[in-house]
Amino acid sequence: MPSLPALTALDQQHLWHPFTPMRPWCAPEHTPLLLVAGQGCTLRDQFGREYLDGNASIWTNVHGHTHPTINAAIIAQLGKVAHTSFLGFTHEPAIRLAKELVELLPGGKITRAFFTDNGSTAIESAVRMALQYWKQNGRPERDTLVAFDRAYHGDTLGAASLGGIPLFKGSGNDFGYRVITVPSLEALDSLTANERGRIAAVVIEPLIQGAAGMRLWPQGMLKALDAWCAEQDVFLILDEVMTGFGRTGKMFACEHEGVVPDFLCLAKGLTGGYLPLAVTLTTERVFEGFLGEPHEGRTFFYGHSYAGSQLGCAAALASLQVFRDERVLEQLPGKITHLGALMADLPGFRQCGMIAAMTIDSPDLSLGAQVCLAARKHGLLTRPIGNTIVLMPPLCVTQEEIGRMVAALRAALEEHGAYA
Ligand SMILES: *Cc1c(COP(=O)(O)O)cnc(C)c1O
Repeated sequence: MPSLPALTALDQQHLWHPFTPMRPWCAPEHTPLLLVAGQGCTLRDQFGREYLDGNASIWTNVHGHTHPTINAAIIAQLGKVAHTSFLGFTHEPAIRLAKELVELLPGGKITRAFFTDNGSTAIESAVRMALQYWKQNGRPERDTLVAFDRAYHGDTLGAASLGGIPLFKGSGNDFGYRVITVPSLEALDSLTANERGRIAAVVIEPLIQGAAGMRLWPQGMLKALDAWCAEQDVFLILDEVMTGFGRTGKMFACEHEGVVPDFLCLAKGLTGGYLPLAVTLTTERVFEGFLGEPHEGRTFFYGHSYAGSQLGCAAALASLQVFRDERVLEQLPGKITHLGALMADLPGFRQCGMIAAMTIDSPDLSLGAQVCLAARKHGLLTRPIGNTIVLMPPLCVTQEEIGRMVAALRAALEEHGAYA
């Protein structure tokens, strides 16, 4: 067994990290932070130092690390079987999870769950379903997706083609289906009747655009968009990969405006942040548009090897159990208020439930990264989006931990003269 310092050297020799400039990472003076353990909101590194998980391990963790209920559920499932194919077979954890998920949405409109294994593929499934639906149900001219400026819907080519952040689009843009990008709801109305007639679906991150730097949509926008889509008979796809599972203060962001979409895409917090699992929830109307005999070619020929993994579904069921057992949603208002009160005077402060952000007002765009690095020394882990710094703790965070997170952030800001 190599020692921990030897391991970080091996990392620098053999690994390639996502969204990471690898030259400074591999520089001899850089020691990668190697995380060895976690409990609740606390993570421990190779030197035994402890940190608060200020961005919930890239927006995934809900109830804290090594939660006994989720750990026990995964271990129990492991004793039965870890993974079996979902292509042509089924299993109890997925069946129970599908039922619980559709029951979380009011009104009975959402009835079907299609499992994949990450947020990008949850989006791709929705996009492909929307396009194929219109193609084989009498409206083949509906071949266009509408997305919003600065949107982020994932990194696979299909999901990235909906993105409105040039940096994340990679080397190409035209991946095989038509996308119109608009700045606002109002811009939809200025589309020509011909353009409107070509729309298969509108996709949006409800209430707040995450990767854009935590940009809030105006209140009521989602409701108005839902009405617009209904009027045009266009599908509404909600990307709740980030906002799902309590993050905004309610189970799903769409509940804030009383909207139930045609497609609801969920991933990050679905398993409490423990295992890769994602789901595209949809309606009976969409589902029925794919029914037919095999020779009619109406089947949805799409899926991934680890779709609906038994372990992932067991973790997700346990996470929903923790929501009930620990009355997680009921305890959020106090935490949300506390987080906001402690950060309200920071420059560019904004908040959406348990997502709080501030933006350092400086032309030096490396300041955000420097401040996050400095925050580590004060026991806080988070990741900048340019000069925007996000605090988005696991929902189980205590008031005291919120206090320590904000104190660490302030200390780091002061060290860099980024806070007057
Ligand atoms: C993270 C994220 C995705 C992509 O999810 P992955 O699991 O990383 O593929 C899509 N949409 C939003 C809003 C996200 O935050």
